[in-house]
This record gives sequence, structure tokens and C-alpha cells, in this order.
Amino acid sequence: MKLKAMFNQLENFIKLAVTYFIYKLKTSKMLRGMVMCENLTIRGLQEYIKGFDHQPDKKNDYFLKLIEEVGELADALRKNKRLNQTGNIKGTVEEEMYDILYYISALANIYEVDLEQCFHLKEEINREKYKNKDVRA
Ligand code: MG
Repeated sequence: MKLKAMFNQLENFIKLAVTYFIYKLKTSKMLRGMVMCENLTIRGLQEYIKGFDHQPDKKNDYFLKLIEEVGELADALRKNKRLNQTGNIKGTVEEEMYDILYYISALANIYEVDLEQCFHLKEEINREKYKNKDVRA
């Protein structure tokens, strides 16, 4: 697979995952009565998850769940199960991307990783690395 196509897939993955995660947050029973920020940040997402799911002694379990969810995403992608086709989130690409984002955030919290900071640092490297290549168009 070409680098540009890989970047496009990754970009689409992140957009879908964030969009669906925001949707889940807004519709969550846990959030009834709470005011949600319209412009959710990565840091805000981490803090939100840490508020109800933070078990450092289970970091290996979180990692195994992450891998499990990646496998479920592969299955959903292979079957092209999409939310807008089925109207049911169960087993769709959207659900599995949400699950992956969830476990990435939970693991980041355990390892005290600021994903927002990582984003900025890595983007700086990527801008330099790909400055003469049109991989993000
Ligand atoms: Mg899943």
C-alpha cells in the first residue's frame, strides 16, 4: 500500500473514531444532566475516561482488550459493516474504532502519556519528514 493511501486511511480512521466517540459521549446515560463540551479535545477525552475507568494494575488486560478490538475492527472492515448501512452500531467499523480509541486512551492514562502532547511532537517530526511529499492531500 502506498504511503499516501495509508495516511488517508489513518486520517479517515481518526476522524471516524473521534466523531463516533463524541456521539457516544453525548448519548451516554452516564452523561445525562452533564454539560458536554462541543469541542472535545484529546486531553479532555483522556480525563473523561480516567474519571470512571482507571485501573493501573490491569494495564495488561487493557492492552489485550486493545488487540482484541483491533481484530474486531479487521472483521468489521472485511465485512464492510457500517453504521449508516445497518442503523445498528453493534459490530460496525464505527463501534470498533470507538473501542480502540477508548483503550488507547485508557492505556495512555495508566502510563501517564499526554496524547495531545504526543500529537504535537509527532506532527512536528512528520512535517519535517514529509515536507517535500504530498502525502496528506
Ligand atoms: Mg468491540
